[in-house]
Amino acid sequence: MSLDHLVQKTKQQFTVKFNQAPRWLAAAPGRVNVIGEHTDYNDGFVLPMAIENCTLAAAAPASNGAMRLRLCSGEKPEMVEIPLNGKVARGEPAWANYVRGVIAGFQDLGIQLPALDIFIESDVPLGGGLSSSASLEVATATLLEVVTSRQLDPVQKALLCQKAEHEYAGMPCGIMDQFISVMGKAGHLLLLDCRSRQTELVPMNDPKLSFLIVNTNVKHELTGGGYARRREQCYEAARVLGVPMLRDATLAQLEAAKDRLDPVVYRRARHVIGEIERTTQAAREIKAGNWAVVGQLMYASHDSLRDDYEVSCPELDTVVELARNIGPSGGVIGCRMTGGGFGGCAVALVEAARVEQLTRQITQGYVKRTGIQPSCFVSRPANGARVIAS
Ligand code: ADP
Ligand code: MG
Repeated sequence: MSLDHLVQKTKQQFTVKFNQAPRWLAAAPGRVNVIGEHTDYNDGFVLPMAIENCTLAAAAPASNGAMRLRLCSGEKPEMVEIPLNGKVARGEPAWANYVRGVIAGFQDLGIQLPALDIFIESDVPLGGGLSSSASLEVATATLLEVVTSRQLDPVQKALLCQKAEHEYAGMPCGIMDQFISVMGKAGHLLLLDCRSRQTELVPMNDPKLSFLIVNTNVKHELTGGGYARRREQCYEAARVLGVPMLRDATLAQLEAAKDRLDPVVYRRARHVIGEIERTTQAAREIKAGNWAVVGQLMYASHDSLRDDYEVSCPELDTVVELARNIGPSGGVIGCRMTGGGFGGCAVALVEAARVEQLTRQITQGYVKRTGIQPSCFVSRPANGARVIAS
């Protein structure tokens, strides 16, 4: 859906729900991570981009003057009431906690909110690995900034949204999703140092290139705490290597310590150390326009996630294999799984002119091999959060 279309839909729905037109409108994008997976909790680098799919948040002053917010989403049409007399607390329905947490963040800053009617609309798929949750938080924060005429510093704003996800939605996420949703810029990726929180916009505006995001539409349940276990293995590797975090280790150091490491822990560390290197290298190669190398780095990232980190799954491997087989002559430059793994999305760097044909080819191949219908999204690196009506 185009942003204009989404804006029109939001205005219409708002008016139906609240019997008045919205006064303020803000948008925040979903995201896809181009490279740098499972590096964030090792103090490493990630290289995401904002996508064209957005969450919109619209508001108007509530007409009856009561000190509460009324909140509604196109995805979850029940009306939610949020009292404003005192600190906002978690509650039901669960989806509203993302919004409650952001409101609480504004309250913590001593910012007084007026009684409001709020409506949320989105074309970021919910739970599809494209970070609808961060886009909801950041759209809400951007809306509250314009409502209260208080502009937050971008880092402070992203951290406020992350805190909402931690404390109100109960999800201990890293900083990537909120940072890219706040700071994304059209025609750029964002190189984010998860240790220092420093960011660098990496230009990527070649009109011949685009990204094809393929949602496998599977989510395998993990037994045995797959995610927590991997974090522990990373910290164990760092201990044996004598470094604070795997960010501080080199592949040479790892090789030298191989005999002292459990073979599984060794492979986990090899992924992380290699992936951090690939991520900073990818940023350099993108700046230089060395697309073939960027593609190779994406495939190397996938292979490492599949073999060393063991977080891929047959469906993700199928998408990447289909893309690899199509290859440069068919318009695919590189492809990898993206996100935590065990399902979710793969991202491919492709020639923009061939994107429709590639979508068909990969969809057909995937359905044939798995019997599952994938969802495909095409996006160029898009803008971060913005105010649409003030
Ligand atoms: P992802 O961020 O990858 O899409 P999450 O599980 O982190 O997946 O977040 C999805 C949850 O965020 C949804 O289940 C819902 O609670 C909330 N959410 C996101 N967008 C919306 C929306 N537009 N309306 C209502 N709830 C939303
Ligand atoms: Mg999320």
